[in-house]
Amino acid sequence: MSSDSNIKPQSTRGIPKDELKRIFGSRIEFIPGRPPRECSHVLLWVQQSVRISDNHALAAAVLTANTMELPLYAYFCLVPAYPGANARHFAFLLQGLIDLEQSLEKLGIPLIVDIASPKEGIPKAVKGAACLVCDTGYTAVQRLWRRNLGERLSLPRIQLESDIVVPSHQASDKAEYSAATLRPKLQRLMDLYLAPVSRQPHIRHHRRRSEPLPFSPIRSVPPAAVLSNMAEFGIKDTAGPLTGLYGGEREARKCLDRFLSRNLRHFHDSRNDPGLNMQSELSPYLHFGHLSPVTAALAVMSASRDESELKEGAAAFLEQLIVRRELAINFCLHNPSYNSPEAVPDWAQKNLDEHRGDERPELYSREQLIAAETGDPYWNAAQKELLATGKMHGYMRMYWGKRLIEWIPDWREAYKLLLELNDTYSIDGRDCNGYAGIAWIFGRHDRPFPERPLFGKIRPMGARGLKRKFEMDLYLERISRLS
Ligand SMILES: Cc1cc2nc3c(=O)[nH]c(=O)nc-3n(C[C@H](O)[C@H](O)[C@H](O)COP(=O)(O)OP(=O)(O)OC[C@H]3O[C@@H](n4cnc5c(N)ncnc54)[C@H](O)[C@@H]3O)c2cc1C
Repeated sequence: MSSDSNIKPQSTRGIPKDELKRIFGSRIEFIPGRPPRECSHVLLWVQQSVRISDNHALAAAVLTANTMELPLYAYFCLVPAYPGANARHFAFLLQGLIDLEQSLEKLGIPLIVDIASPKEGIPKAVKGAACLVCDTGYTAVQRLWRRNLGERLSLPRIQLESDIVVPSHQASDKAEYSAATLRPKLQRLMDLYLAPVSRQPHIRHHRRRSEPLPFSPIRSVPPAAVLSNMAEFGIKDTAGPLTGLYGGEREARKCLDRFLSRNLRHFHDSRNDPGLNMQSELSPYLHFGHLSPVTAALAVMSASRDESELKEGAAAFLEQLIVRRELAINFCLHNPSYNSPEAVPDWAQKNLDEHRGDERPELYSREQLIAAETGDPYWNAAQKELLATGKMHGYMRMYWGKRLIEWIPDWREAYKLLLELNDTYSIDGRDCNGYAGIAWIFGRHDRPFPERPLFGKIRPMGARGLKRKFEMDLYLERISRLS
């Protein structure tokens, strides 16, 4: 590593495009631009990948900065008014940022957390930057941020899809009908992209500790300071922080290790049983970018290579992690109204409209539902699990959603309420998986079923099925122990 005195105010070398292309293939996109005459740094805008391991954007930024002989700065825009986010989400996010700050420091990369929207913050942070490197989130807000910035920035940009196994545009360039249509496309390409990102080298050109930042953030604050007083920063408390669940890359790795040693062997035959609770519980870490799906997939594949009785569990897990998750991303990318009732296919909208007037034996208000005060102990337990833990067993999520079709006459109201509850209380809410999951409740990515009251042609679900198939007493008992 070179000493501080080696800092050069102006890079004499360009972006190592050929090498980047060779390493990152279709994950990388170059957006041409003009660098300033005097370059002081390379900027990594951390939007989605809040981690060190298997972070393609970070690896590309380090390589670029080292080649250009410039220091690298990581930059995160913290937006307290982010749509739908509250103290529950921010606490987890900030724990991840604290973890990232410490890990980046060891690599010689300062992390600046700025209380600013990307529209305000990034143009200031790229002043003097030779180029901007960023990762890729897929929700409309994240895409809008990048699109709006693109119109305002003149410097070269490098974007990497670092939170997906098969890059989205490689897998498919249209809205897929179902998992059955996307699966073969992913399977053809998966092996090519299931590769770890090689270990991060240190950044070679540091700024001196005493030296001021080469740019002026709007309001740079250590993430620990925001975490200790979220209200002061305008973070809403519509749902409070969780106890017993912590964000960050280290916690993500612990969760993955627990899954590999305990539940993976039972995943294929027991993952649906709410009483047995055999899921991985990785979704919060995947949602916040604290864990790469590539890391999770490779770990599971490696474990099952060593132990043959893990093979079926591994195959079932990869189906969820890659096929279902990437179908959800495809859904959000190709349906502009992915988070509204308009996302429901036409046949299902028409059919649900026809069943609005069906006689409903039970009706519950929004308040009764939020307070878990229905006549259905299974539904109440699922809602209580959500409120208390920020999570809900995956099979119960389906049941929880389906019952609202029976209890709320206007299915569009039911749809909106599910979006609200899921996004407010779920720690992994506001995610493509959630939007696709709620659309699935109403027929998206599914087929018509024989017509019946209330559900019409939508796939029905009921308490009798739960009781017949699963250890529901164990589930009720587990939830009753939650405070
Ligand atoms: C109404 C409803 C709402 C949902 N809301 C969310 C949400 O807000 N956030 C979220 O991440 N998932 C959501 N899901 C999808 C799924 O229920 C969760 O991903 C899963 O339960 C998370 O728990 P886990 O990590 O233990 O999953 P595991 O079963 O261990 O699966 C591993 C990973 O595979 C992916 N996965 C699993 N099931 C699905 C699925 N059906 N669709 C897409 N990806 C999947 C997830 O990334 C998950 O972390 C929702 C599903 C429904 C029906």
